[in-house]
Amino acid sequence: MPVNAKGNRRMTQYQLVAEGIKKLNEHNVPDADIDAELLWLFVSKQDKMAYIMNRQEEVTGAVRSSYEAVIDKRSERIPLQYITGTQCFMGYDFETAPEVLIPRYDTEVLVEQANHLIHDLHSDKMSVLDMCCGSGCIGLSVALMNPGVHIDLCDISDSAIALTTKNAKRLAVADYTVIKSDLFEKIDKKYDMIVSNPPYIESDVIDGLMPEVRDHEPRLALDGDMDGLKFYKAITENAESYLNEKGYILFEIGNHQAYDVQQLLVDRRFEEIRVVKDLAGNDRVVIGRKA
Ligand code: GLN
Repeated sequence: MPVNAKGNRRMTQYQLVAEGIKKLNEHNVPDADIDAELLWLFVSKQDKMAYIMNRQEEVTGAVRSSYEAVIDKRSERIPLQYITGTQCFMGYDFETAPEVLIPRYDTEVLVEQANHLIHDLHSDKMSVLDMCCGSGCIGLSVALMNPGVHIDLCDISDSAIALTTKNAKRLAVADYTVIKSDLFEKIDKKYDMIVSNPPYIESDVIDGLMPEVRDHEPRLALDGDMDGLKFYKAITENAESYLNEKGYILFEIGNHQAYDVQQLLVDRRFEEIRVVKDLAGNDRVVIGRKA
């Protein structure tokens, strides 16, 4: 391989990405080729089309070091989205933070269901609560897609509160309030709808998850206690006091939790209870309506 004046091997963008793929594969990173390329686009501030056009160009030492640094991070199984600092959700660019759960595409099903219900109600001024808001991805998307809806977003974590506030400003959400609250502790209003993707993984399942999640995402945002149902129980028990008449509750659930979560809603006399599947065909959302 040719050598430049500083004695470094000359390398094209394409060759550098190939080295990135090799290193990620050595560390068993899933989809190593996709991540190595996305990290190169991130470091070189190019879109994919520019990369295709420029891939035979030689890279400079500085940009090469930056790329090697992010490849090292990804080799430690730090999630891609914590390295790039963003994740797309409902077509919006959400900032991420290491102490806060990364938005998941599965969660988009919950937002779509909320949108349908808001649309069907034809109400000018609805108020919605996003309980356990994390990055704010659910509530802020609902607000952005339904002008006129007021959204309150709450979470127990300071990092989540800070990140939701940042995302609301970044996405220029008009009508929102961010509340630091342990579930309903600091909530003193009634809503037309409560949406929530609470922590729902059974405590002893967490150790078996992929390293990206197990070692790098916050346990606080994952752990639903031994039965995974702790937050569904706590939220459902109190929800009727915080819902207007005929108000809706929408939960994201783990794919084996539909029966249990529906039962919790039945026990509290919710009506119109149903389950919605995600695109993979797994049970993903449970909906109920206050009697
Ligand atoms: N509501 C946020 C999300 O869906 C955070 C969820 C959580 O922290 N469990 O990404």
